[in-house]
Amino acid sequence: MARLTRVSDLDPASALVYAIPLRTRFRGITLREGMLLEGPRGWGEFCPFIEYDDHEAAHWLATTVEQIETGWPEPVRDRIPVNCTVPAVGPERAYAIVAESGCRTAKVKVADHPGSLAEDIERVAAVRDALGPGGAVRVDANAVWDVDTAVTNLRRIDRAAQGLEYAEQPCRTVEELAAVRRRVDIPIAADESIRRAEDPLRVAVAGAADIAVLKCTPLGGVRRALRVAAAAGLPCVISSALETSVGLSAQLALAGALPELDHACGLGTVALFDGDVVAQPLRPVGGYLKVPRTPPAPDPELLQRFRHPDPDRVVWWRKRLDRVRRLLA
Ligand SMILES: [Mg+2]
Repeated sequence: MARLTRVSDLDPASALVYAIPLRTRFRGITLREGMLLEGPRGWGEFCPFIEYDDHEAAHWLATTVEQIETGWPEPVRDRIPVNCTVPAVGPERAYAIVAESGCRTAKVKVADHPGSLAEDIERVAAVRDALGPGGAVRVDANAVWDVDTAVTNLRRIDRAAQGLEYAEQPCRTVEELAAVRRRVDIPIAADESIRRAEDPLRVAVAGAADIAVLKCTPLGGVRRALRVAAAAGLPCVISSALETSVGLSAQLALAGALPELDHACGLGTVALFDGDVVAQPLRPVGGYLKVPRTPPAPDPELLQRFRHPDPDRVVWWRKRLDRVRRLLA
């Protein structure tokens, strides 16, 4: 990892530790925790998931350091189209979520439980109804199908959708993705297969995907993610790592700076939180988010409200930041 000259200046004792409840369980958690730090370029966020080790967390801190000490590259666009997200709900609810979102792209959860195909088909058909012929329907199976199931189910879901934009991570491994991709005409996106900087290239070389889902936060910053995107040579969709608006601003900076952006991004995620640390959260309006030039600053009252209530956890986060900072220094 590149040597960062100013990281030694980071002061774990002055970083703020937050805890914000999630509206619904997501990724197995109901409380999002992290730290907020201020530097010469503004505020940044350090929020690697609890189970990540220090080496993985170091990439997250590199993103923070870029944001607070270096700033981001110039954007090439002002606003980013975002998708709405339709969880495993019934068709009426699915229709309403899409209609209320104002988004022209919907990401629909499928394969929520074994034998869900009939429900998946109904949900996807309702989403197509709500979007009309001009909208885009993508599905996410979160890596649960085997190759044959993926091929059979995706063909039927594609018909119900009257054409899918793409199917995200239908199977677990890169080899399985490649096998599905050879057998269906539906574009395949890799998400879970891309967690480290070298993964997008691996996916591209294996012919496993048409689209790469990238998150700059675990990749080590906007510039690093731009290099990864260029090396992969695949169209990219930028997706959140469940940050508050402070950290999400870096993901928007990445989406804003990508030379090509052909797909809506998965960045409308602050609505998953029961509150935010900034007074004007980065919520999509009419299906778009603005690309910020600088990170938003936390609001003192909201910081007070979402200050981590558990002193032991605050100490845990400060110690973690201190260890990870040494890895980068
Ligand atoms: Mg996904």
